[in-house]
Amino acid sequence: MHAEKLQSFVLSSLDYGDSDRIVSLFTLEHGRIKAFARGARKSRKRFGPALEAFARIDVQARIKEGLSTLQQADIISIYPAIRADLERIAHALYACELVDVITPEGHPIPRLYRLLAAYLDRLETEAAVEGDRRFFEVNLLNILGYRPSLESCTRCDSPFMEGGAWLQEGGETVCRFCCAGGKQLSSATLKALSACLKTGIFGQIDFPAASMQQAGYLLDEAISAHSGRRLRSLEFLQQISG
Ligand SMILES: [Zn+2]
Repeated sequence: MHAEKLQSFVLSSLDYGDSDRIVSLFTLEHGRIKAFARGARKSRKRFGPALEAFARIDVQARIKEGLSTLQQADIISIYPAIRADLERIAHALYACELVDVITPEGHPIPRLYRLLAAYLDRLETEAAVEGDRRFFEVNLLNILGYRPSLESCTRCDSPFMEGGAWLQEGGETVCRFCCAGGKQLSSATLKALSACLKTGIFGQIDFPAASMQQAGYLLDEAISAHSGRRLRSLEFLQQISG
């Protein structure tokens, strides 16, 4: 079995034994993989700082189901500006943990790879803002096929009119005839979220303050329904932003 050259982001990194590390990588070619990095803690010569969370690296790896083997890692960027700012670190760690928990293992998802790359590039050049985080989230859900319905009721299929929609548990959106309570989502919020899916470029969509909050309720619900567990980095993010 020969080693493959892969483009990747480090999603997380776990110490193993006295000298090794197991890293979770999001690769362009194979999607999310787990890889064993022998000697990564003992000798920094081989991997250096390449295996830190949200580093962008080119790797040589032997791919094997379950646990691949990392042979070499070359840094493309460690995103120094992100690493100098606590809020940006919190957002970058959150984005990586989200990809880590929500994507299937061993399935290439090139659109999501490009979205994560675009988000980290954005964080490297701009301050961390909630609008960019929400832009990342709604596009991520869309790419994975988990997009909440923004145009019509998930129960009766009638289109959302100017009155907007009502948010149910798990991120379900329903019309006012099908709902028995829940938070209201204005049509401006639904439109802003739809607009996020029509451009791949960060910073193009402006969320009015009320819509930002409503979009947050919807995306938080949808993400927790699909990620299966509470994200550790979310608490850190909330502490920093609060
Ligand atoms: Zn309905």
